[in-house]
Amino acid sequence: MSPFAPAPAAMAGSSRAGDLFQLLRDGRPRTRAELAIITGLARSTVAARVDLLLASGLVAAVGEAASSGGRPPSRFAFNPGGRVVLAVDIGATHGVVALTDLACTILDRRRSELDIAAGPRVVLDWAVAQVREVLAANGRPVGDLAGIGIGLPGPVEHTSGRPISPPIMPGWDGFDVAGYVREQLEVPVFVDNDVNISALGEQATEWPEHDNLLFVKASTGIGAGIISSGQLQRGAVGAAGDLGHVRVPHADDVVCRCGNTGCLEAVVGGPAIAAGLRERGVPASTVRDVVELVRAGNPAAIAAVRQAGRDIGTVLATCVNLLNPSIIVIGGGLATAGEHLLAGIREVVYQRSLPLSTAQLRIVASRATDAAGVLGAAMMVIQAVLSADAVERQVSA
Ligand SMILES: [Zn+2]
Repeated sequence: MSPFAPAPAAMAGSSRAGDLFQLLRDGRPRTRAELAIITGLARSTVAARVDLLLASGLVAAVGEAASSGGRPPSRFAFNPGGRVVLAVDIGATHGVVALTDLACTILDRRRSELDIAAGPRVVLDWAVAQVREVLAANGRPVGDLAGIGIGLPGPVEHTSGRPISPPIMPGWDGFDVAGYVREQLEVPVFVDNDVNISALGEQATEWPEHDNLLFVKASTGIGAGIISSGQLQRGAVGAAGDLGHVRVPHADDVVCRCGNTGCLEAVVGGPAIAAGLRERGVPASTVRDVVELVRAGNPAAIAAVRQAGRDIGTVLATCVNLLNPSIIVIGGGLATAGEHLLAGIREVVYQRSLPLSTAQLRIVASRATDAAGVLGAAMMVIQAVLSADAVERQVSA
């Protein structure tokens, strides 16, 4: 199910403007009469709801329908430009800020260097300054802002928006990220980890026909975002998808930073692959080094990345049996090494997963690539502020 097009059955019998709006989110212009037929509501009821939506700016008149004579009836459609969303994707060493409309189309996008270890106040003050600057540069007042979505490179308790013991974010543990930003910009603020928002961004913009999608980020760390029946699955406390610390069978001698041995991340994370290459006399220390070696055709690096793919595939084969995704999207820095990582993953997943699970399964590289984070951060806001309940609250306020 596309996030823009909820099932019409959900609207049947409801007369709220927020529910009527869900029908219009597919962007197709409709007349009052058409809306009355689709919903089964009286035309006078539809007309009153359409007026509320027009006043909110979420819906706009768009030209005229063909008429059999007399005054042509006006048609209405979702107005994605009515409000804007600010998306902030914060990494360990850089941050990306994007302005989008309500259809998740990027209107402006900027990337800056930053140091997450400088702590939440420094980084979030930077983010708020960027939000103000991007709004001003695009001629949009703060009042046009529907909300702010923030992705962080560590575990986040989604309900509170607070990072929970994030390993690479000193000073952020338990910090009220959403509250701090809301004090400076009075709009809804949503926070999640970068892998979850990347999964949302990929699914919404590149694979909307796939309701069951598994997004894997393979970079310095390894993580997954799970979309099941069209919904992002965060688990009980937001820790779902932590693939990095699943045990791989052949690596009991490898100690992970989490204290356990044989974790996937300790075996196939970028630094682990680089360390393996150094042991073989090939100088490398980062994900970027590994990717450059693969692109240059270094046989040891190609073999190491393909083996990393097989190790990731071993863990993913279990995920496939458990979750039955129709598509697995591989993103993150290691995925930019070309087909070698994907080939290793496919080799094991198709061999080890049950035939019924793999019959329709696609395993592909990320299409949204480094925009996935901001697209997903924006989508997180859009899903919340354009829900039937949220729109209903907005138009009745
Ligand atoms: Zn571990």
